[in-house]
Amino acid sequence: MKNLLASLMAGILIIPACTQSNEVNINLKYDQNISLEYHEVIDAYTQLSDYYPEARLVEMGKTDIGKPLHLFMISGDRDFNPESIRKKGKSIVLINNGIHPGEPEGIDASIQFSWDLLRNKDNLKSYLDSVVIGIIPVYNIGGALDRSKYYRTNQNGPIYNGRRRNARNLDLNRDFSKQETQNARSFANIFLYLNPDVFLDTHTTNGSDHQYTITLIPTLHSKLDSSMGEFFHDKMLPDLYERMKENSEYEMIPYIRMRNYYGDIRDGIMAYDDHPFYSTGYTALFNCYSFMTENLVYKYFPDRVRSVIDFLTQLIGFTHDNCSEIRQLKDQADSKIKDQQEFHLAWQIDMSYSEDLLFKGYEYVRPEPSERMTSRGYFDHDRPWTDTIPFFTKYDPVLTVTKPWAYIIPQAWTDVVNKLRNNEVWVYRIVGDTELRVQNYYIEDSERSQRANQGHYINQNVEVRLVEQDMPYYSGDYVVITNQHANKYIVEMLEPHAPNSYFAWNFFDPILESHDFYSVRAFEGELMEMLEKDEALRAEFEKRKEEDQEFADNSMLQLRYIYERSPMYEIERYNGLYPVARLMQEPDDLNIKAVEGPVGDLD
Ligand SMILES: [Zn+2]
Repeated sequence: MKNLLASLMAGILIIPACTQSNEVNINLKYDQNISLEYHEVIDAYTQLSDYYPEARLVEMGKTDIGKPLHLFMISGDRDFNPESIRKKGKSIVLINNGIHPGEPEGIDASIQFSWDLLRNKDNLKSYLDSVVIGIIPVYNIGGALDRSKYYRTNQNGPIYNGRRRNARNLDLNRDFSKQETQNARSFANIFLYLNPDVFLDTHTTNGSDHQYTITLIPTLHSKLDSSMGEFFHDKMLPDLYERMKENSEYEMIPYIRMRNYYGDIRDGIMAYDDHPFYSTGYTALFNCYSFMTENLVYKYFPDRVRSVIDFLTQLIGFTHDNCSEIRQLKDQADSKIKDQQEFHLAWQIDMSYSEDLLFKGYEYVRPEPSERMTSRGYFDHDRPWTDTIPFFTKYDPVLTVTKPWAYIIPQAWTDVVNKLRNNEVWVYRIVGDTELRVQNYYIEDSERSQRANQGHYINQNVEVRLVEQDMPYYSGDYVVITNQHANKYIVEMLEPHAPNSYFAWNFFDPILESHDFYSVRAFEGELMEMLEKDEALRAEFEKRKEEDQEFADNSMLQLRYIYERSPMYEIERYNGLYPVARLMQEPDDLNIKAVEGPVGDLD
């Protein structure tokens, strides 16, 4: 851990306080329906960092547009070292803004909130006795630099909006786990460096229409460590909704994912299955209470910004008031995860279970189709309603694996090892060529997605066969022992049938091509001779012919059948073989050497 911290600290560029200004002069414009431009955002945080000793702005890593990712921190006792902050029993909250720069309310809200807190408006500074705050001012810098009044056209402000995708035309909120952008790699470094207790990612949504300005997507409580999940579901979430109701003019509601997309909200809404490629799904893998705020596009921008300011206040307030419990549960989970044996990799909603939710909607009107247009409904703002609706919140695991003692990754796949290392995964290398008894997956079946997704045609509905066998490994191959803080990430990404694995995202696609082409006819003589000599095989063969007419009529199938039972078939061992193996027990005589802290790429 020391190595990582030292290297990361060395990589941090602290913005020098060159002009110790006498005052802070930030011109926020959200009241005029304007979101600050990127350079104005960085200027605002630079001013706060220069003026207030409790604030610090640092550059941490690159983004795809070439500009650095910034982290702004507020720490009451001016200690900015996460390890030492945690030792003092304080909580760390990380806020990410501008991932979709056309959804900018969090950008302006975070500046307003930071400034208010630092100047101790409403005694906000008292939160700093137990909470340290980290803010990523703008995550998708490339998208933020490209503004237009025609982006997000159905959104009620601000006047100018950034672009959703980043400089590589990827949606950063699909890239958290596979990390194909510099932005995502830098985010992982910041996130794991801070190891925050609470994480918030700010967004805007157009999925529905109702009376609320702000909605919330929490990570699925069932995906968290059990004690954390219980606290999250039973205490933290109800309390946050209650605090917003009591202390803000913007009451908050869970994000609206309708049970019937073209139906009525009264039919119910469903909790969101936040896969690890989303911000909340990824951060929750590391025992973090994770949220996305989703503001409603039809509400006016200034109101949306104020609702986020209010939520930040309540979120930090809750964290402050419950700091010791939050810290205790996370510390326990961080320790438990290293010994956890079973991991759930896919989930299905249980539609037989729901909770009651008091909801304030608008009547949906479906006009008769006209001659020129097909019927399109709208929400009638003159007809509000309040009703109790079902909220489906329970997800059950549908794919569970037991972790091996270690995964073995042949060095041909070092690019994958580097991805793991970027997530604080520690690796060893085998010293000397060896043979190991391992479990290997064979890919029996998988489907390519029809539509491109983030430049990928994802492998889905993956079916695997697990085989135990002796396999050769060579000096320098990698061993990933599953006793780590990153265990959930390791298992999610390396089990090939997990819906979000590296295999799903095409990083192992060459293995889906078959190895050698040959004709079994070329071996016909040898195969027939083998059949002659092997009485048991012959009996089995004849029996099959009797039972299976297609087999009896097809000489090619028959030759293939004998071939698959011949020593020549050994060549096929590599067909469909997923190269990452599961080593179930620590071997007595395995010679491995630790690779230095997970910083920098191996080659
Ligand atoms: Zn968004």
